[in-house]
Amino acid sequence: MDNKLMLMIPGPTPVPESVLLAMAKHPIGHRSGDFAKIMEEVTHGLKWLHQTQNDVLILAASGTGAMEAGIINFLSAGDRVLVGSNGKFGDRWAQVSKAYGLAVEVISAEWGQPLDPAVFRERLEADTEKTIKAVIITHSETSTGVINDLETINRFVKAHGEALIIVDTVTSLGACNVPVDEWGLDVVASGSQKGYMIPPGLSFVAVGPKAWKAYETATLPKFYFDLGKYKKDAAKNSNPFTPPVNLFYALQAALKLMQAEGLDSIFARHHRLMSATRAAVQALGLPLFAPEGAGSPSITAVIPDQVDAEQIRSIMKKRYDILLAGGQDHLKGKIFRIGHLGFVSDRDILTAIGALEATLQELGYKGATVGEGVAAAAKILAQ
Ligand SMILES: *Cc1c(COP(=O)(O)O)cnc(C)c1O
Repeated sequence: MDNKLMLMIPGPTPVPESVLLAMAKHPIGHRSGDFAKIMEEVTHGLKWLHQTQNDVLILAASGTGAMEAGIINFLSAGDRVLVGSNGKFGDRWAQVSKAYGLAVEVISAEWGQPLDPAVFRERLEADTEKTIKAVIITHSETSTGVINDLETINRFVKAHGEALIIVDTVTSLGACNVPVDEWGLDVVASGSQKGYMIPPGLSFVAVGPKAWKAYETATLPKFYFDLGKYKKDAAKNSNPFTPPVNLFYALQAALKLMQAEGLDSIFARHHRLMSATRAAVQALGLPLFAPEGAGSPSITAVIPDQVDAEQIRSIMKKRYDILLAGGQDHLKGKIFRIGHLGFVSDRDILTAIGALEATLQELGYKGATVGEGVAAAAKILAQ
């Protein structure tokens, strides 16, 4: 059947109809007063979403562009940085940092486990000479469905006093609480095709005062992603280069939806979707990849032992038009991931779990009876 595909992947995520329709207009001139009004409104909305009074800058790039901007604007070649890595996106932070000649020390954890804040504390406390310039981590590690304890790690960064905290919040912003100012997060990167409920193409960097101070002395090369230019122009509700105007229409519409729902409701919804999904998977006798308490609010990874993860994904797609994500790198073929980020409702979870049960039945899986997953999810959704 045409037009039935349901995206249950962690990006691109589903886009609400009002957001799609907002984009179906001619682009307007990006130096016009009308565009400046949109720029003013979305900048205001982005600050609300980030819970910050400081800058949130908008880039025409995918999330990785925001990550790169977060490095090159605030650091210099040879700078010592601690990079947390427990998955594909933590690895990406290390790759970007190495590409720009930073002295990278990776603090890793096994894929599927959260980073250990105590290791960060040890390394930061031992640095009495204050040579560590930044701690760089991924909040929600999309590749494994694990949430890292940003709040605790950041507390140790604050106790260090010198190092910046640079965070990838691509699948945590708009899914769980990331109070940028309250926690004093210096650089926060995110992308449009995740919690924002808009198509790929925009990314965002929140920058605090301490990071701007570092910007003054940072010497890594930059041009298109020179955030100083974006800050200067944002003050005039403008952009240094031609922005993807229609994606700004989408951003404006999506932020309106988010503001109508409210931050607390958005966070509660994602928590509920995560809890229902995890309970259903467990009720079906399928092992969860992330331990209890470390599950990402936006994605649940499953590591089936009696059925093939890729067969599950294939049947879910072919018979039920539901797209699940597979494993990345060494987890390819070993796990599947259910995205529940952005424009996702309770009904979507019941649908996905129902289809998963039918899929398991088709594969001759004996670990559970059809209905047990939906029952477990429904119990949580009803609370
Ligand atoms: C999606 C994602 C990114 C950005 O990926 P792009 O393909 O560049 O948009 C970065 N970090 C995490 C955790 C992600 O989920």
